Amino acid sequence: MDETERLRKHTQAHQEQLRKERDRVKTSVNERMDDDLPDFLNSYPFWCDECQEDKTTKCHKIKFKFGNHWISVMAAECPDCGARMLRYATHRDEDKYYQKSLRIRRDRNRNYIDMLQQDEWGFKTKYGDREKEKMEKTHADVERSIYEREWRTGLKGKSMETKTDLKRFHKEWR
Ligand SMILES: [Zn+2]
Repeated sequence: MDETERLRKHTQAHQEQLRKERDRVKTSVNERMDDDLPDFLNSYPFWCDECQEDKTTKCHKIKFKFGNHWISVMAAECPDCGARMLRYATHRDEDKYYQKSLRIRRDRNRNYIDMLQQDEWGFKTKYGDREKEKMEKTHADVERSIYEREWRTGLKGKSMETKTDLKRFHKEWR
């Protein structure tokens, strides 16, 4: 093995090690995501699938182990119909609450309308032919703001292994 080949092998091994380390850190970040949530909470927002309504109620944390991964959820009972309600404490970007909750959807629409109004106010003082371009930019900004908001609610970029575990978790729970 010549020197170049040896270096190439060394670099590959190093990169593989780095990749593994990134995956490990990512997983543990997801699994530590519940650190800010205590075992019991007197008030936490949920979505009830039965009532099709937002509910804020007391809940407790439950931890599940899937293979090498920990998944923890905040579990509650709907105060009105008694149905089980869940929020993700770890892996929060997987939380269906953000798609289901009317409260969240209203917030998103409000942001959207605010941005459209700002835009309207802006282009009245400018040239008409820039109207379309500005509108397109606004739409892109809105999309980005929703995306960033989703990003902040959890961390993207889980390993395939974790994604598989989460899918299985959804199936077993439902
Ligand atoms: Zn209910």
